[in-house]
Amino acid sequence: MPNIKVLTKLMRELEDQLVVCMRCGMCQAVCPVFAETGFEADVARGKLALLDGLLNEMFKDPQGVYERLNKCLLCGSCAANCPSGVSVLEIFIKARAILTGFMGLSPAKKLILRGMLSRPEIFDRVAEWGLKFQKILTKPANEIIGTSCARFVSPLLKDRHFMPLAPVPFHRKIPSLNTDKGRSGLKVLFYVGCLIDKVFPQLAQDVIDVLNYHEVGVFIPQKQGCCGIPAISSGDLKTFNRLVRHHLEIFHDEKFDYLVTACATCTSTIKKIWPMMADKASESIENEVAEIAQKTLDISQFLVTKVGLKKNATAHIDTAVNVTFHDPCHLKKSLGVAAEPRALINANPGYRLKEMPEADRCCGLGGSFNLHYYELSSNIGRAKRNNIKASESSVVATGCPACMLQISDMLSQSDDKIAVKHPIEIYRELIKINGTHA
Ligand code: SF4
Ligand code: SF4
Repeated sequence: MPNIKVLTKLMRELEDQLVVCMRCGMCQAVCPVFAETGFEADVARGKLALLDGLLNEMFKDPQGVYERLNKCLLCGSCAANCPSGVSVLEIFIKARAILTGFMGLSPAKKLILRGMLSRPEIFDRVAEWGLKFQKILTKPANEIIGTSCARFVSPLLKDRHFMPLAPVPFHRKIPSLNTDKGRSGLKVLFYVGCLIDKVFPQLAQDVIDVLNYHEVGVFIPQKQGCCGIPAISSGDLKTFNRLVRHHLEIFHDEKFDYLVTACATCTSTIKKIWPMMADKASESIENEVAEIAQKTLDISQFLVTKVGLKKNATAHIDTAVNVTFHDPCHLKKSLGVAAEPRALINANPGYRLKEMPEADRCCGLGGSFNLHYYELSSNIGRAKRNNIKASESSVVATGCPACMLQISDMLSQSDDKIAVKHPIEIYRELIKINGTHA
């Protein structure tokens, strides 16, 4: 249990933030969970009303409050549409930490978060064991998307079509890297992130190739782990703080101008949630977290605003394929990044960008939300799939590997032949054509 001083401080901060909500209900119109269930308790206003009496409710029915709070994608659509500027996500995250501090973690979560996630080397080993079982328990589902599904009836996997673990994770191919600044005069720390490391390692290679092309120095410290989002979403401050401290230590080994990631969720976590929730045990930790957050950028934002993209010498070629772009919530709503990933796509004349309706509507994944409420998550995901199909594109791109998982599941289950890509992959394909430095 986190110390009582921390919980009391969080509770006070929560109370200060809750009074800002004027109960106008504007958040209803944009909440993807409310759109499916129609329950006031599922929308931000309902949850905030519940939290208003948190101190009382916490003693009466902590589990009930926790469950209602958990029925949320943490997508930030409510916050982005709130006329009063209520820090809804900050409130929800702090409330989860208070409740978990009060109730403790379930044994399963304790095992996953404290036993595995908080220790990057153990997490890597567990993923390697998973790879062995994967061959026995799963079979290919959709060749174009690259998904698999359960070979036998599985209560855990259900009907899911998921992207399998890569045969070789990125950290096995490139455990660390440290290259000099080239003509760009810039050096970045590349934070890989768990999903890219274990499921989409080719994306990490694409990032390195693009950075090399633009002559940007790359520092990849050894033993990177998870950014902490699964822990803090479960209210587990202990694991979250352990991961933040671990990364601060390994980031120390080299000087760098920016920290870049190709995962919208990692970027948003390091930039927004680390400063909000990390234990400010000393002034130096507080300053370090603030400095890292300030240097953190999505890869597309870094390339567009700090480096400059390779100029598109030709107009779209005749054989250009239509591609549509899904705005990850953690990129657009959390960080305001929407034009930059589109610029990466537009740079490649082999692709023609066609906007889908409601491109910034949440895909419905929401991390553990998908595990707890798969049906609800799939209903929200199917709306996204219909919008993708309405764009008549043969490729959908998105800047978050977590969204790539959800979109792949939805498209694969309906046997659609639409490939799922990351904008950096599309930009990398352009560079492959030339193969020289910028
Ligand atoms: S969170 Fe914002 S939008 Fe929702 S009811 Fe409160 S003030 Fe209105
Ligand atoms: S974060 Fe998303 S799912 Fe949660 S209440 Fe706000 S709009 Fe609804």
